Amino acid sequence: MGKPTGFKEFNRELPKTRNPKERINDYKEFYLEFEEEKTQQQAARCMDCGIPFCHHGCPLGNIIPEFNDAVYEGNWELAIQILSSTNNFPEFTGRICPAPCEASCVLGINKPPVTIEHIEKSIAEKAFELGYIKPQPPKTRTGKKVAVIGSGPAGLAAAAQLNKAGHWVTVFEKDQRIGGLLRYGIPDFKMEKWVIDRRLEVMEAEGIQFKTNVHVGTDITAEELQQGFDAILFCTGAGIPRDLPIPGRNLKGIHFAMEFLTQQNKRVSGDSFGETHEIVATDKNVLVIGGGDTGSDCVGTSNRHRAASVTQIEVMPKPPKSRSEDYPWPNWPMILRTSSSHEEGCSRDWAILTKEFVGDEEGNLKAIKLARIEWKVNDQGKPYFEEVPGSEHEIPCELALLAIGFVHTDPKGALPELGVKLDGRGNIEATEGRYQTNIPNVFAAGDARRGQSLVVWAISEGREAARAVDQYLMGYSELETKDDSLLNVAKAG
Ligand SMILES: Cc1cc2nc3c(=O)[nH]c(=O)nc-3n(C[C@H](O)[C@H](O)[C@H](O)COP(=O)(O)OP(=O)(O)OC[C@H]3O[C@@H](n4cnc5c(N)ncnc54)[C@H](O)[C@@H]3O)c2cc1C
Ligand code: SF4
Repeated sequence: MGKPTGFKEFNRELPKTRNPKERINDYKEFYLEFEEEKTQQQAARCMDCGIPFCHHGCPLGNIIPEFNDAVYEGNWELAIQILSSTNNFPEFTGRICPAPCEASCVLGINKPPVTIEHIEKSIAEKAFELGYIKPQPPKTRTGKKVAVIGSGPAGLAAAAQLNKAGHWVTVFEKDQRIGGLLRYGIPDFKMEKWVIDRRLEVMEAEGIQFKTNVHVGTDITAEELQQGFDAILFCTGAGIPRDLPIPGRNLKGIHFAMEFLTQQNKRVSGDSFGETHEIVATDKNVLVIGGGDTGSDCVGTSNRHRAASVTQIEVMPKPPKSRSEDYPWPNWPMILRTSSSHEEGCSRDWAILTKEFVGDEEGNLKAIKLARIEWKVNDQGKPYFEEVPGSEHEIPCELALLAIGFVHTDPKGALPELGVKLDGRGNIEATEGRYQTNIPNVFAAGDARRGQSLVVWAISEGREAARAVDQYLMGYSELETKDDSLLNVAKAG
């Protein structure tokens, strides 16, 4: 522990952000520079408590007190060694993780928690700057070949780990570019795409092969995969969006959030969208249906398009401002969160039911019928809602974006060809910890297996699944697992 009194001396402080009015003129990240010394002070706030709950709060098992100490001491090389023993891509999580670790930080019981996510990003950026992150190809090759399908954070983490174990890894991606939702879902203002490209350069130099524009199941068959590879790992994400089948759904002007966001990410990268019709929010009244992160990304993008108005609605009730009794520390609390996109301007409302899309004579969306609802609990303790009588109203809307989640992975193509079983929710059936499907050499990880989740969980599953594949191929594995991450501290130190 660097400074025993650090948590008393320094307040929580994060880098300042660019003015919302200015930043909506571009798609660049919004955090300003932060002096290195200030980051070291933030690391000094870590109390190195006996039981580091933050370590358990992080799905990767990041060894947080140890890297905080290294940062406080200015030992960036040790800090990145500790961090990369559990996390392949701290430059991603340091930017876009919702930081469940901070919700379980012990200091957070009665003071603002340690700025763990910011410290993580600082370590990653400093490590790239000082040349500590460089290609490290394996010294020997096993001769085994593994196909990773899908290049989101789960596929990338798995590929990095499997390559480290000495296997030849090929990543197949159906899209134009590598990155999955990191590339096409998350907007540039949350994470600029050079951050992915910088990491891909390292991975390619380490010997990983990336094949884009290859849709497994269409461009390459399941049989070809089985013949060409010793093991196959599905990291295909939960790409099927949840629909809202209410009257008027077929009107022009109603789109899934990902259609809108993917186009914008491609526009920023200068990529074409082929034959696709352009979706723009400029001068339109935009209604974002769904109160989560995807919805918030639609808000930020609509503001950058200069929409006439942006409204975001959610069917669930408004969460409390601080922890309620239902979510005691160290659990992740359901509280009201205001994202950077909300700060840029948007009206938000909760407990709202979308009843009907209303169109004009040409079949264009012109308004939406909404009603207020009241949530109640029945005798069996199950929540249900009732419409508030007389609350039905219409709002003008020319662009509606459906951001109400994803149902499951695409069940067609290679999965049925290989005979892989799905679970009751339509995800690939493979138990957590084993990641093996009903076909012995076929594995699954990330959103395709666990359902829609977070980048940090995708990386965690990719790493753990890589270990399971390695064990299957070799009979043993020396790849790290988060269960022995504390041992890694000893190794790193
Ligand atoms: C708009 C949006 C914003 C988000 N923001 C955040 C955030 O800020 N923080 C956070 O932690 N999480 C966020 N998430 C969630 C996070 O992005 C996902 O949980 C995570 O990307 C899942 O990783 P994955 O690797 O399992 O799948 P994905 O990232 O979905 O990647 C799957 C990849 O598989 C490819 N693929 C699918 N089928 C095939 C096939 N047959 N052949 C070849 N390739 C195929 C897909 O094209 C895709 O590239 C967000 C999600 C969305 C939609
Ligand atoms: S990956 Fe997320 S949960 Fe883990 S330490 Fe980083 S910010 Fe916290």
